Amino acid sequence: MKICSLIGHKFEGWNYSDPHICVQNRVCIRCSYKKCRSSPHDYTSWEYREEGACEQERICLRCGHKSKQTHHEFSEWTRVTGKSYDRIRVCSRCGLEEYM
Ligand SMILES: [Zn+2]
Ligand SMILES: [Zn+2]
Ligand SMILES: [Zn+2]
Repeated sequence: MKICSLIGHKFEGWNYSDPHICVQNRVCIRCSYKKCRSSPHDYTSWEYREEGACEQERICLRCGHKSKQTHHEFSEWTRVTGKSYDRIRVCSRCGLEEYM
């Protein structure tokens, strides 16, 4: 329709075109022109995948997309003497040590 090229499209709100895909679209109510955009994933909260390891995983409830991160649970920095480093902290899950 010509009027859209003059004054621009008149869109409805964003809608999910498919409940299992993280893409939204909106449609011009005059000429049915469609616009798409990817929407943010609707992730669960981070969960550890196994005991004694620090890899976390979360899953998008809509499309099933998985994302991963590593999250250590370090103790407070503890001061040490007589070493080549001043402080140490240890991850209470996997035992990883960090020095500084
Ligand atoms: Zn239009
Ligand atoms: Zn998703
Ligand atoms: Zn760890």
